[in-house]
Amino acid sequence: MASRRLTSNQLQEIRQILIERKRIIETELQKNFTRFLEDTSDETTVVDVDEGDESRVDVGKEMSFQVMSRRTKELKEIKEALRRMDRGEYGICEECGNRIRFERLKAMPFAQLCRTCQDDSEKREKERQRPPRNPFRF
Ligand SMILES: [Zn+2]
Repeated sequence: MASRRLTSNQLQEIRQILIERKRIIETELQKNFTRFLEDTSDETTVVDVDEGDESRVDVGKEMSFQVMSRRTKELKEIKEALRRMDRGEYGICEECGNRIRFERLKAMPFAQLCRTCQDDSEKREKERQRPPRNPFRF
């Protein structure tokens, strides 16, 4: 398979996706983190809900801790991807060193593995989770 370098236009396109995603997550996290602090700092606070204002909140009103940590992780991956982009290492599979296809990167902008290596690592992961086979059949 011929490995093609990403054109600067393609890189630019992905950078935009990453930056936009980063902005969304940061806003989302900030909003939830503020709410989280408000909730714990003063438990007796009466929440005065302004109906009209509240209806505008479309992003999950309360983000669970799990979601927040997933977002934080995603944010880290986005920053890492941007850093790789700056160093000119973006789009190169960490496992085999081949270039990752543009289509794949567009769908998963912070993919660090090419399709083949991703499949392999998932297979290995599944293999690991599978309980050892019982040599004796019942
Ligand atoms: Zn690979």
